[in-house]
Parts: sequence; structure tokens; C-alpha cells
Amino acid sequence: MKSDRIPEVLTAMSRKISEKKDFLTDLDNAIGDGDHGINMARGFAAVESRLPEFEGKDIGYILKTTGMTLVSVVAGSAGPLYGTAFMKAGMVMNGKNEMTADDFIECLNAAIDGVMMRGKAVQGEKTMLDAMIPARDAIVSAVKDGRNFPEAVKAGVEAAREGVEYTKTIIATKGRAAYVGERSLGHQDPGATSFTYLLETISEAL
Ligand code: ADP
Ligand code: MG
Repeated sequence: MKSDRIPEVLTAMSRKISEKKDFLTDLDNAIGDGDHGINMARGFAAVESRLPEFEGKDIGYILKTTGMTLVSVVAGSAGPLYGTAFMKAGMVMNGKNEMTADDFIECLNAAIDGVMMRGKAVQGEKTMLDAMIPARDAIVSAVKDGRNFPEAVKAGVEAAREGVEYTKTIIATKGRAAYVGERSLGHQDPGATSFTYLLETISEAL
């Protein structure tokens, strides 16, 4: 995927998030404070407003600016967490104008490390990591099996969806949902869900 297509993907992410805004907010209402959809929609609307600046810029610049925008405009943990994820991916793509499947895996690795560091979380705590890590693992194994970039990301989307289902079966131990304890059982994690939407958009673009 070339750098000139990234703004198109960010626009599609913004559209998808705005379509799913109410649903994400409902999910967060059940186990948190009901702002995840609002937070994500505000963040991606701000990213969309910066798209003209991205003309002619490399992928690293675009992803880093996206991350900084999310950190600065989003209240709530999703802003710093997704912001860190995009900034870390931006560092991987520094000066690059094309993203291969291997680059994408490196971006996901950096994004996961960033979220784990920033959120002090690991897999199995009912967070976005429960979609991100299985998605990354599925993409790595698809690429190893010789599948191309679009096919690999499609496998990643399937794994992220399964990750979202898995979050229904576990108790939250990080973020606001940790306060509701056992009552978080049976509910899917909002952040794992929004990550799945973002990955779906990338898959659709590929
Ligand atoms: P807030 O929790 O501040 O209201 P949001 O509602 O926008 O922020 O985001 C909630 C989502 O953020 C959760 O569903 C979860 O996926 C993710 N999250 C919260 N805390 C953490 C953490 N410490 N590590 C990783 N992800 C987290
Ligand atoms: Mg919230």
C-alpha cells in the first residue's frame, strides 16, 4: 500500500467509527462510562481535518501526526492508547512511502508494545489488546503460509472478531471496566471492538 492511499484509509476509518459511534458508546455504557464512541468519533474527525497536510508526506509522518492528533483531542484512555499505537507505527514507517505486509506486522508489533507499555496491560484483561494480539498473530502466520497482504489482513480481521467474542468471557482487570468486576462478564470490550473496525477498514482498502 502506497502513502497516497493512507489518507483514504483514514477517511474510511473515520466513516466507520462514526457509523458505529452509538454502538461503541452502548458497549461502553454497559461496563464503563459510555464515551468510547464519542471519544473515537471526535478523534477521527480531528484526524480527517488534518488530511490536507498529509499530501506528499511519507507514511511515517502521516501515522505519527494521526497519533499525536488522537492523543491531543481525545479525552479518556482510548486517545492516549490509540495515539501511542499510531505514533509507534509511525516510527516504524519513518521515511517510507510504501507499506508491505512485513511492514504492517512491524507496525502492529510496535502498536501492541506501545499499548502494553502505556496501559500497563497484557492479553486477557479485556482490552483492545485482546483483539490486537490475536490479529497480529493471525497475520504473521498467514504471511508465513505464503498468503498475500490482503489475505493476511483478512485473516487478522477474523482473529480480531474472535478476540472480541473472547472478551465476553473474561472479567476486566484494566481500565474503567475493572471497577464493575464480575458484572463485566458477558459484555464485549468496546476498545477491542473499535480496533476490529479499524482493521476491517484496512482490509477493505486492500
Ligand atoms: P475511558 O475508559 O477513559 O472512558 P474509552 O471509553 O474511550 O476511555 O476507552 C475504553 C477502552 O480502552 C476499553 O474498552 C479498553 O479496550 C481500552 N483500555 C482501557 N484501559 C486500558 C489499558 N490500561 N490498557 C489497554 N487498553 C485499555
Ligand atoms: Mg469510556
